[in-house]
This record gives sequence, structure tokens and C-alpha cells, in this order.
Amino acid sequence: MEINLTDEGTDRETGKSQGSRQSDDAAVNLEPEKFQQPGPAAEKEKVFEVDGVSVSYGDSLAVKEVSMDIHKGEVTALIGPSGCGKSTLIRCLNRMNDLVPSAKVEGSVRYHGEDLYGDTVDPVQVRKLIGMVFQKPNPFPKSIYDNIAFGPRITGMKGDMDEIVEKALRGAALWDEVKDRLDTNAFGMSGGQQQRLCIARCIAVQPDVILMDEPCSALDPISTGKIEDLMTEMKRDFSIVIVTHNMQQAARVSDRTAFLMTELDATEQNRWGRLIEYDATEKIFTNPSNPRTEDYVSGKVG
Ligand code: ADP
Repeated sequence: MEINLTDEGTDRETGKSQGSRQSDDAAVNLEPEKFQQPGPAAEKEKVFEVDGVSVSYGDSLAVKEVSMDIHKGEVTALIGPSGCGKSTLIRCLNRMNDLVPSAKVEGSVRYHGEDLYGDTVDPVQVRKLIGMVFQKPNPFPKSIYDNIAFGPRITGMKGDMDEIVEKALRGAALWDEVKDRLDTNAFGMSGGQQQRLCIARCIAVQPDVILMDEPCSALDPISTGKIEDLMTEMKRDFSIVIVTHNMQQAARVSDRTAFLMTELDATEQNRWGRLIEYDATEKIFTNPSNPRTEDYVSGKVG
């Protein structure tokens, strides 16, 4: 696929499902064979190269000097205690922090080798290629069909709209549940269906990456399970980055996990998030290199 941050252009399809889960937040205890096996990072194509990224809101530093590569076709999880900067960091990956007036992003984020914050980059094109799903499902007050068709229409996508809508809904494992009521208001759907609709809305504009910021935290375990299954299928077609406070979820769905934690300065008045460890998910959860990661994933500290 050709990536052009200043122009239109993409083409892809999507798939379907597997698995079981719990949705508690306890320490993780999984069989090693249950982990995804992403293979050596050095052999993987990089989607993002995050280099020395710090983010401040006004005078407050929120995230300090994070460097990590995010790989194509993988699910990358960001975990860590509340307030450690996970959402702030994921929002750097599609320039959502541009929308927060006090936010300042320093360092470099390269996307397929191109400076994501470069002068010629169009933030609208960035958010089309790098879609985002939020904690709370946020469908438009429109029909199911129009929710999906909205993005393709405003981005001028060519093709049969009925086919585009069906393909996106199938990609989000929602088609069978809604195909007979496409003209009904999206607000009539359950929370879990609404969240899959938001995923379908992302897929419809044929993105390259889908960012998910706590996509299941407002959902029941069954809906959570459906979305986790979907992620495992979707990574064939999209690279996924997910923020989750649920370590079980990170262990279940992700290939690589980044653990962030809050650090305090000597006065203990100022705090910011740091990347403590980033590795294959199995390594993070079974044999982490850093004792702070070990304490967190074993539930000793939260
Ligand atoms: P997490 O996602 O790990 O809970 P966040 O990225 O939401 O962490 O927050 C990291 C820090 O940045 C926190 O101290 C939070 O209060 C601050 N922060 C987040 N968003 C904003 C914002 N829009 N304006 C000011 N401060 C913010």
C-alpha cells in the first residue's frame, strides 16, 4: 500500500474471529502458548518510529522522552497505571494532540519513514490513514448506513457505497446483526454494537493504522470479547495500537507491549510518564527485564 500523507490513496480488505477471555484487571497468569508470537522486531516493517517524544500540557510535562518502534500487522499495547500518559502518547500517533491547545509535542514521530509532524503533512489525511476508536462509543446521530458512509463520502471515495458499507460492517463483525436495519438510528444499538460500528466507521475509509484508546472499558465482557476477537482478525489488514488498563486484555490480544509508569521529580511535586520497558508481550508478562515491570504485571503495584 502506498502511504501519502499529503494526498488520498489506500486499498484493503478485512476478515473475522476466535477465542475466550475474562475482563478483570488482576495480575496476568496465562499459558505461554496463548501469547501472540510476533517474531524478531528487527525483521518487521516499521509503521511508526517514535524518537525522544515528550508531551507537555502548558507547563506540565505529561510524557518524557519516549522512544519506540511500532510494527506493521501487529497489535501493540500501551499499559501502565492511570495518569502515566498512555492516552497522551497514543494521541501523538495521529496528531490528535493538535486539537488540545495547551499540548506541545517534542521529539520525532516518523510514519512509514515520513515526519508525521512535517510542514507539508495534512492532519486530515493523517487521521484518515490513522483512525481512532475512543473509550466511549461515539456514533453520529444518524442511521447505521450513514454512520459508515459518512467518511467515504467526505473523503470522496470511489465505488459502490452499498458495497463499501457492507464491507466495513463485515470487517467489524457487525453485518449479520444489522443488515436488516441499516436505515435505523445508530443510537438504538447496544453499547458493544455501537463500538463495533465505530470500528466499522474507521475501516470504511480504508486506514492503515487503527488506534484504540481503552475501546472496551465501557463494555460488558461479551462485547469486550467480540472486540478482542476482532482485533486479532483485523491485524491482518491493519496495524493496531491499543491503550488498555486491563492487563489481561493486553496479554490476550497484543504482540508487543509497552509499559509506562509515572516518575516523580525530587520535590515530588512534578510527575510525568516514562516508557519503562517495551518488548514482545510474552516477555513483558512472563520474564520482564525491569523489576518495575515485574511489580506491575504481577499486581504488586498499581
Ligand atoms: P493515562 O492515559 O495513562 O491515564 P493521560 O495521558 O490521560 O494518562 O494523562 C497523563 C497526564 O497528562 C495526566 O497528568 C493528565 O492529567 C494530563 N493530561 C491529559 N490530558 C490533558 C489535557 N487535555 N490537558 C491537560 N492535562 C492533561
